[in-house]
Amino acid sequence: MDQHPPFRVGHGYDLHRLEPREPDGKGRPLVLGGVEFDHDMGPVSHSDGDAALHAVTDAILGALGEPDIGQLFPNTDPQWESATSDQFLLEAADRARRAGYAVSNLDLTVILERPKLSPVKEQIRGNIARLIGIDEALVNVKGKTHEKVDAVGEGRAVEAHAVVLLMRVD
Ligand code: MG
Repeated sequence: MDQHPPFRVGHGYDLHRLEPREPDGKGRPLVLGGVEFDHDMGPVSHSDGDAALHAVTDAILGALGEPDIGQLFPNTDPQWESATSDQFLLEAADRARRAGYAVSNLDLTVILERPKLSPVKEQIRGNIARLIGIDEALVNVKGKTHEKVDAVGEGRAVEAHAVVLLMRVD
């Protein structure tokens, strides 16, 4: 069996509950794709709760068949308390390089009712491209709402899905 195929695909998913910002609730500042929003709700999380970067990180780790983000950076480890999520993605990208792969392209969908993602989509795209070390043209970011239904639609959660294709670098 080929342990080092020319392509490997991975999917990452994350969700964080949103609460009113501290001290009214347990919400941290809302950060998505490394961009901080001025918003009255924020994620309840051990790290900074950046669901977008967590999904991308898990997509890369998943493509590699390596332990997931929760295994590598446990939410019980004080080292990762309030950690910014760029270091998780940097580690995943580094593991891909060490395994002999580069990111061919990735597609990220962030689902939240508000605030609107569109004004900062390009900034998120740039952040992810820079962290992975690839051209922005290889990173796609989509924002969607959840049509006001269920927890995400009621503004009580933010969700992200990422699909990544890794290509072997010979
Ligand atoms: Mg997360």
